[in-house]
Amino acid sequence: VVADERVDESTPLLDDLIVGADIGGTKLSTVLIDSAGRALDRSWVEHSGADYESIVALLEEAVVRYQAEVPDGRRVAALGVAVAGWLSAARDRIVWGANIGAHDEPIRGRLEADLDLPVTVDNDGNAAARAEFAAAGAGRRSMILFALGTGVGGGVMMEGRLLVGGFGLAGELGHIQVDDDGERCVCGGRGCLELRASGRGVARAAGRATSHAVVAAARVGDDRALGVLAAAGRAVGTAVRRLLPVVDPELVVLGGSLAHAAPDFLLPAVHEVLDDSRPLFDVRPAPIIELGRLGPEAGALGAALLARDGLLTPPAPPARKEPQSL
Ligand SMILES: [Zn+2]
Repeated sequence: VVADERVDESTPLLDDLIVGADIGGTKLSTVLIDSAGRALDRSWVEHSGADYESIVALLEEAVVRYQAEVPDGRRVAALGVAVAGWLSAARDRIVWGANIGAHDEPIRGRLEADLDLPVTVDNDGNAAARAEFAAAGAGRRSMILFALGTGVGGGVMMEGRLLVGGFGLAGELGHIQVDDDGERCVCGGRGCLELRASGRGVARAAGRATSHAVVAAARVGDDRALGVLAAAGRAVGTAVRRLLPVVDPELVVLGGSLAHAAPDFLLPAVHEVLDDSRPLFDVRPAPIIELGRLGPEAGALGAALLARDGLLTPPAPPARKEPQSL
């Protein structure tokens, strides 16, 4: 699939606009894109956090506002939603969204009924991976995104598509084991990447209130903070090393608020691990490892792109064609 493939000009999709939304733990971000993937508008609003009903109301208000504002002859054709939480494999329910007060919520059907639009839902890490893959440009096949925020999320693009998995949990990269004898994680596993490389994890390891305070301390030379951030980067490097023979990525992207706050501490530590073990590097080049290009709007933009992918992909064979990449 060619990543810069454009929509056939004869399709009515050219006049269609798509709304993307990212429901995070503290704010709702929205974006309006056209059929070529260009962002026409971005906005965000803070929400109360634990009140799922009020978050849905804010989201629906934002979509209705876009519907009222689009120019004559164009329409909002679909909505994509990225969610901070565990989703059902069918991507129709939020199984558990601890930070947004959602437990077993049938989000897709509800939004489709309320807004009379086709709705696509995915988790925030997967959506960000979709957007960063598009932002990285044409010609790439495989990419791994690590989203280092309050927790650690991620997404894997293979052959130009988002990897979903048998239970919808492919790309949950925060739960790759990086310490063989590590402590228990909320997922039931042990020694997970999230314990080492999340904002919450580095704050706890450094004895600071927030990851922001850890990065600030590292910037003035605090040894403990520097050590914790280096360990976080090495943990990401270990995860990359373990994924590399599976995914064979050309590109590894570090996104999320912690990565954007401390790329100069994290990226060298990732390279340190790969320079030491060099998995398959005698037969393929080392992956490009870079900071995300999109920043905090990656989730909303990726949600819109996933919704657009759904519009472009006929639902059933034999008319099925390859999904568009951007
Ligand atoms: Zn875990």
